Amino acid sequence: MDAAQYNAYIEQMRQTEYPMLKDATYLDHAGTTLYSKSLLEAFSADMMSNLYGNPHSASQASQRSTHQVQDVRLQLLRYFDANPDDFDLIFVANATAGIKLVADALREHESGFWYGYHRDAHTSLVGVRELAKEHRCFAEDKDVEEWIRQNGQTMHNRLGLLAYPAQSNMNGRRLPLGWCEKMRSQGVLTLLDAAALLSTSPLSLANLDTAPDFTVLSLYKIFGFPDLGALIVRKDAAWALQKRRYFGGGTVDMVVSLKEQWHAVKSAHLHEQFEDGTLPIHSIIALKSALSTHTDLFGTLNRISEHTSHLAERLYTSLLSLRHGNDEPVCQIYKDPLSTYGDGSTQGPVIAFNLRDARGQWISNLEVEKLAHVRNINIRTGGLCNPGGIQSALHLSPWQMKQNFSSGQRCGSENDDVINGQPTGMIRASLGAMSTLKDVETFISFITEFFLDSKSSPNNRTDSPVLMAEVPIVEQLHIESLTVYPVKSCAGWQIPPDTSWEVRPQGLIWDREWCIIHSGTSAALSQKKYPRMALLRPSLDFAAGLLHITCAVPIKGATCTEITVPLSADPRCFLPSSKTSTPTNVCGDNVSAKIYSDPSISSFLSSILDVPCQLARLPANSTSRHMKPHLRTAGSEKMPLSFSNESPVLCITRMSVNALNKEIKAKGGIATPASTFRANIVISQPLHLPPGTELPHAEDSWSSVSIAKRDTEAEAAEATFDVLGKCRRCHMLCIDQRTAEKRQEPFVTLAKTRRSEGKVWFGVHLALGKGQTRGWLRVGDAVVTS
Ligand SMILES: *Cc1c(COP(=O)(O)O)cnc(C)c1O
Repeated sequence: MDAAQYNAYIEQMRQTEYPMLKDATYLDHAGTTLYSKSLLEAFSADMMSNLYGNPHSASQASQRSTHQVQDVRLQLLRYFDANPDDFDLIFVANATAGIKLVADALREHESGFWYGYHRDAHTSLVGVRELAKEHRCFAEDKDVEEWIRQNGQTMHNRLGLLAYPAQSNMNGRRLPLGWCEKMRSQGVLTLLDAAALLSTSPLSLANLDTAPDFTVLSLYKIFGFPDLGALIVRKDAAWALQKRRYFGGGTVDMVVSLKEQWHAVKSAHLHEQFEDGTLPIHSIIALKSALSTHTDLFGTLNRISEHTSHLAERLYTSLLSLRHGNDEPVCQIYKDPLSTYGDGSTQGPVIAFNLRDARGQWISNLEVEKLAHVRNINIRTGGLCNPGGIQSALHLSPWQMKQNFSSGQRCGSENDDVINGQPTGMIRASLGAMSTLKDVETFISFITEFFLDSKSSPNNRTDSPVLMAEVPIVEQLHIESLTVYPVKSCAGWQIPPDTSWEVRPQGLIWDREWCIIHSGTSAALSQKKYPRMALLRPSLDFAAGLLHITCAVPIKGATCTEITVPLSADPRCFLPSSKTSTPTNVCGDNVSAKIYSDPSISSFLSSILDVPCQLARLPANSTSRHMKPHLRTAGSEKMPLSFSNESPVLCITRMSVNALNKEIKAKGGIATPASTFRANIVISQPLHLPPGTELPHAEDSWSSVSIAKRDTEAEAAEATFDVLGKCRRCHMLCIDQRTAEKRQEPFVTLAKTRRSEGKVWFGVHLALGKGQTRGWLRVGDAVVTS
């Protein structure tokens, strides 16, 4: 089979073997490889037809497990060409556990150990330095070579360990395997982290001269299942581990506890001394099925390596060639100068990069993620658990990293990843055995569709066209509708047209007065994660003094169709505060919400959202529920801006909604209702204006918004708002607020027509102007902007 035939074969096989990939593009194989249907079926058949017991007795079931574990251990050693006379394999939870086992044992040596690790090391290798007497991070390959030449001599009487990844989990660069032999000649032990390498490439430990002393790997990264890791130890390096002090069930032959303390560690086999407690036998037995189905489906690891290497080369050259209309590159790729795509000995099938717009500004990876989400493309973004690699590729100095940390940047958080104009993370696309050319092409089209600005011309390196609209003169604006969202992230409630509604510095009254919190974490739930929240329809009933919450769809097995709580914060409704000591986390901010005690409320909400949750009332006058962190820079001193995902008041215009819908419809899409944008205030121009005189996106340039009384012209404003800034949008817009179903619009069109500074904008955030403690709003009120 040539490359094209193999690709066609994978494409076909994938339909049946990886049904979960239907409609999805998965480019995160460096994170987790997927498991095949055959693997799960083979494992299931094995479990169903054989009785496996805990391997601690002479029973048949127990013996069967013992034998299987022995067989699998041997099979795995052979998979890596490791001669069982020279190597042993210790089962561990994951690669990290294997690394920790080595470090924990070495630290018990009398004078500790020296630890060297490479810049490209995964976080799990970096952490070992905390256990070492002395440590050094090698910034370049040549530093390692240099150290071997010079300092190696000084190591003679000391225990030393050099650790490095066989393949960087950040950009897939493959590091020289020859260091192990050179280090050994200096009396330094080596720990090879093969977790990333092995997912798409073989590793041979056949040559004892070049093999590392310790090799760690993640089996789930090769087979997708089971979730297990392994530590392969050279028997001639076992002495270094044997100072480990802990023992437990499984690792000792005899223990004396009374009168005298003595124990004898198991000694027949090396692995017996390190596998504490009951082995994960079912997982280990699953490896049998994993090994055989993997070979059946893909052939050798070599074949996988060729296939993925070929795909990565395609992806790399395509990304590299993407240019904006003004010839500026779209992608900044973080390839190591020492590696070459297509050359399996220096580069694995991983591409790390960032995107720039036509003006050279970095595009936030959050935006990329949001759009990838809409298109069902799975990629990894962020710091990628590779601090040294990131630091060096992005040229971040320690003070910058610490400053970014103080600015709220955290591993795995949703904070802005472009700080002071510099990226703090990257995008990683990684290919796996079941990736195909189609995945590569889909991804390239995705980047082209959303991030390549073909209209930019060499002399015209300006901002995206739409946002730089000339300052319009907007006349005859009025409030078209007013909405509050009594329960955060649930449906809105329209304020009746003839009602004057009070607005305070925190926002419209009764807006986000309640929230739904996760029973375990106490974090406020959001529609982004729980789209069905859109189906929960709160309504304010002032005549009865109640908040009603109904559900827009029938609830299966429900005992009631709605819940009600008093509008008054009646203390009898809540759990005593002693029981709610954990503060509620509303978008990163800790507030002490009061939780409703009635179990029927939580069972109603939990059954609809399919997550254990409770209704909570936010403290009176809490400002924290409304602020957006990035508005802090919008600079309104009187606002105590904190982390939360809402601003006091969100305002959109009908004109902008119409303009967007025109774009959507032009491409055959379906218009989106204004309710999608979850605004509090919708401002409109008179309907009778002649076509073409509508002014979309006028709000982008507003600095204040004054509301005048309806019908009486020259009277003092009822409320004056400062514009805090434009509203940044995410894929939550893809949730149809009527059905809670996900669709692509309007986010896809918005991302193409309303992006600037790498972010997507629609509508504006408002807050009552300085010095005002309250104002009044009513549908039909005239609006004057400046
Ligand atoms: C994934 C990975 C790890 C961590 O593996 P775990 O199995 O999660 O402990 C360590 N190093 C590299 C290079 C990896 O890719």
